[in-house]
Amino acid sequence: MYTINLIKKTAKIVLLLLCTLNSITVFSEDEISIKKIDAPFLGTSAGDDWPVFNGTYGEQHFSALEEINTTNVEKLGLAWHMDLDAGNTVTGPLEVDNTIYISKGYSVVHAIDAVSGKLLWKYDPDVAKHADIRLRQGWGSRGLAWWNNKIYVGTLDGRLIALEAKTGDVVWTVNTLEEIENGSYFISGAPRVFDGKVIIGNGGTEHASTRGFVTTYDAESGKQLWRFYVVPGNPKDGFENKAMEMAAETWHGEWWKVGGGGNTWNAFTYDKEFGQILIGTGNGSPWNIKVRSQGKGDNLFLCSIVALDAETGEYRWHYQVNPGETWDYNASMDMQLGEAEIDGKQRKIVVTAPKNGFFYVLDRTNGKLISAEKITKANWASHIDLETGRPVENPEARYPKGTFTLYPSPAGAHSWLPMSFDNQKNRAFIPVIELGARYDDRMVDLKNWKHLPGNAVDTAVILELEYDKDRKLTDPMSKLLAWDIVKQKEIWSVPGPGSWNGGVLATRGNIVFQGQITGEFKAYDADTGKLLWSFDAGDPVLAPPITYLADGKQYVTVLTGLGTSISFYGGSLGALPNYRTMKRRVLTFSLGGNAELPPRSKEQARVAFDDPEYELPDTKTLEMGQLMFMSRCMACHGDGALAVGQAPDLRTSGIVPLKPTFNAFVRNGVKARGMPSFEELPDEQLHLIREFIRWKAATLRENE
Ligand code: CA
Repeated sequence: MYTINLIKKTAKIVLLLLCTLNSITVFSEDEISIKKIDAPFLGTSAGDDWPVFNGTYGEQHFSALEEINTTNVEKLGLAWHMDLDAGNTVTGPLEVDNTIYISKGYSVVHAIDAVSGKLLWKYDPDVAKHADIRLRQGWGSRGLAWWNNKIYVGTLDGRLIALEAKTGDVVWTVNTLEEIENGSYFISGAPRVFDGKVIIGNGGTEHASTRGFVTTYDAESGKQLWRFYVVPGNPKDGFENKAMEMAAETWHGEWWKVGGGGNTWNAFTYDKEFGQILIGTGNGSPWNIKVRSQGKGDNLFLCSIVALDAETGEYRWHYQVNPGETWDYNASMDMQLGEAEIDGKQRKIVVTAPKNGFFYVLDRTNGKLISAEKITKANWASHIDLETGRPVENPEARYPKGTFTLYPSPAGAHSWLPMSFDNQKNRAFIPVIELGARYDDRMVDLKNWKHLPGNAVDTAVILELEYDKDRKLTDPMSKLLAWDIVKQKEIWSVPGPGSWNGGVLATRGNIVFQGQITGEFKAYDADTGKLLWSFDAGDPVLAPPITYLADGKQYVTVLTGLGTSISFYGGSLGALPNYRTMKRRVLTFSLGGNAELPPRSKEQARVAFDDPEYELPDTKTLEMGQLMFMSRCMACHGDGALAVGQAPDLRTSGIVPLKPTFNAFVRNGVKARGMPSFEELPDEQLHLIREFIRWKAATLRENE
């Protein structure tokens, strides 16, 4: 239990908020006026606002608001909507002082009046101009941070920008990648602010030999405070600290030449109680440990939760979820704080559902494992040994003979779309993905492998998603799972359409909100999973919903549209959103809301381009073309050229049949529309890519 005393400047109030992570005592509302700067300190979301990415410092993505509850949710209706232009809209909003902030597309920040839905200001950091080769990676911004009347946003090109919350004017900008030679690092995740510091990491493991790190800056001035590297560099250059020296013992060969990784692209959790910041680290670079570290070693601190001293950035403890990971598994998913009685003992806990399919409960005072159980099919390990904290692996899973079909896939059983943790009832609500993938490195030159500069995906192993390609589009490959975090078992689950569905918001009103790829936004009874309410949004609802009070009334806000890595999963998604007709919107709901959306745009059939000169190429050409397409194009144009909303469907593009036009288009790009240039691609490679697309278009034509 801990106590937070917040003192407001005005004379009459002393705000006393006794807050334990299990129960909240909030004094009557007129006695309390939470000073906005302090709201994020609350362990659970007792505040009126949603000022940080996951609602609270505890990152629970849970709200204590209960105006909207199981008895009245059927009266929930649309209060207003706002249309947005193209670009990623799978992004988490914030709300502070009746203003909603979103960072969409390439970090274009919008401030919107929460009650009226009117745009207040817009700030565009002009990422297409700065991002250069990084445009190839297809990412958009996942969210932003608020602190003391400022908004913080990261950009694909690595800038961290502080804006005046009232006006959108730039307060300061830093380049978080200054001094970093490698041009493939990027920021897609939301920064976090704690105790006057803003922290940001980066991504890039799939694109180059990266060495992940996090940096903190003074939130007022942008002055750099401390930096922590996730993996060791070349020992000859000396180690930054003892932790890196320790980590280097777990790497083999000349790892610093081919890779490293561990990029912290998403999850940070500030644990005020213990003065520490938890960072969730990413996978290895390249994925294949045979290339990265001679096939052995734990490779610290990949795929770990690492606790750092919040003041100094010094290493405190770590828990490695996947020692020596080799599948793009990572521990970069939300890490949610709490306190619970487990086996008769009161424990300070952090819970997380990383990619690997297990749900972990750790002691956040020391990083020791308390429990871990599977939440879905996971064939890489039988269980996690509670004595050692290490997984008991299936030896075949490391594809020793070159190939293995693994569950979960690199999408993860749970990705970055947040789960919701109700610490009062000790249950988590998790958007679970149930996909497998075949890994194959038989075509990879393991001895001489080198990163190919400029690839969108470059992993030293070939990947094919595993799902029944003949299934109906809406067959479930996902579920919304309610999980008892103490007993480590399912309470209920509801199958979802396709593989990816939305981030989850649960509330004290006993409601669980989740959107679906097929366009429904739904509310379930938190106790039973019974569907209580559903809204037809017409377009994918994948972004995490938020809830807050504005002018004393409870609202729920969520975005529609597609983006970030989700597009990569092509045909497994269970819906085929069309880049040209899909609507990207902000939707806001309240009790009695009676606004209406314009009617759904008519689904346009995908018609393949005419290609009278097409002849079926030989198998080798198609195989090589598929590989080229995967590494250069798939990030935006979809698995198997089946585009699902991030970018146009190339099988329907009139440019592809015209060879000189196609070559010029790919080499020059159209940066303003997010199409990067591939100026270095030789004619032979363009030929292979084009043949692959023509083949896919011919297949579509046959089925028309
Ligand atoms: Ca990755």
